[in-house]
Amino acid sequence: MSGALLNIDNVTVSFDGFKALNNLNFSMNEGELRVIIGPNGAGKTTFLDVITGKVKPTEGKAYFKGSDLSKHKEHEISRMGVGRKFQTPRVYLNLSPRENLELSANRQKSVFPTLLKQTPTPEKRTVNSLLETIGLYEKGDIPAALLSHGEKQWLEIGMLVAQSPDLLLVDEPVAGLTDEETEKTGKLLMALAESHSVIVIEHDMEFVRQIARQVTVLHEGSVLFEGTMDQVQNDPRVIEVYLGQEATVTPEQMLILRIAASMAWADDNFAPVQQEVILSELSRQFASDPAGQQALREELQNYLAKRIPLEELVPQLQTPQQRELALKLSYEIISSNTINETEARVYQRLLSLLDLPPETVARLEAAALESLKS
Ligand code: ADP
Ligand code: MG
Repeated sequence: MSGALLNIDNVTVSFDGFKALNNLNFSMNEGELRVIIGPNGAGKTTFLDVITGKVKPTEGKAYFKGSDLSKHKEHEISRMGVGRKFQTPRVYLNLSPRENLELSANRQKSVFPTLLKQTPTPEKRTVNSLLETIGLYEKGDIPAALLSHGEKQWLEIGMLVAQSPDLLLVDEPVAGLTDEETEKTGKLLMALAESHSVIVIEHDMEFVRQIARQVTVLHEGSVLFEGTMDQVQNDPRVIEVYLGQEATVTPEQMLILRIAASMAWADDNFAPVQQEVILSELSRQFASDPAGQQALREELQNYLAKRIPLEELVPQLQTPQQRELALKLSYEIISSNTINETEARVYQRLLSLLDLPPETVARLEAAALESLKS
């Protein structure tokens, strides 16, 4: 373990006896760009939680730059140089990208001087070069609310870099991005990896192929395999637990399913038997074979436990076709029994987020009722 930036030594994390991490061993050197993949529930997020100190190991130790992380609180670990970017952007929408970056760079200091005073010149230079790096120089002074989903992701990566961490943790950076944005994100992370150590968690295989040098595959809380992307793709165990499942639904379909599923749960009174109907209905529609259907059910259940708000999901839809399918499925789901007030309210919220023409909505609602009859 000498010289390793990060060393995870036989770490187990138990939640009421369930081992989200199970005797996990992992080590990474300074300057590495490491990608972590694994099926849903493999322990990827818990792994990041251990590194940031959000979760303490039940057994084993985690070391960052040789320090035992169990002896430090979350904010101390962050000051030691561990920075984390969450899956959904957390930028200030009413501030410009420049102001967001200035705030991040000043986070240790008071927030007010940044807003009230002129930023000193050396800092301006850093912020300018950061805007350049994340491809937002031209849009540096418009409200961040006007940025695309991808641009917001880059801004948040920039905000993370502005805090000068030694290790960047990035959770699913390309979920919901267009192909072009995905490629740009890969280039950005590779550029950052020249001066930082980076851990990226990702599902999108095309993306992993683009950026990955060394890949670690997690499965049931342990490291299943480690190697280059070529080795990973050819390992029979990996194919069985991960790549085999991946083909069942595309990320775009999963997004639509998640929206439809959150409609199903709009009303907390859903009886278990009705949940069952919806889960099997959705997995049947989207996955053809029983194994795929089972994987999808698990994924949906996993999602439902997390309750990501519609406000975060819907903007990730890329095309009118995707928005239309999300609407049709959602309407089908709430119409499968009598629509109550809560469901009606959530449905109205979905409609306003989708922003489809009224005649399209009417057509899709009719089509949904039609397919319910058949
Ligand atoms: P991944 O990010 O790979 O999908 P997670 O680390 O989120 O996996 O979760 C691993 C397993 O641990 C899952 O089965 C999840 O349900 C469980 N888990 C995660 N956090 C908790 C918690 N706070 N309490 C109970 N179980 C949890
Ligand atoms: Mg996760």
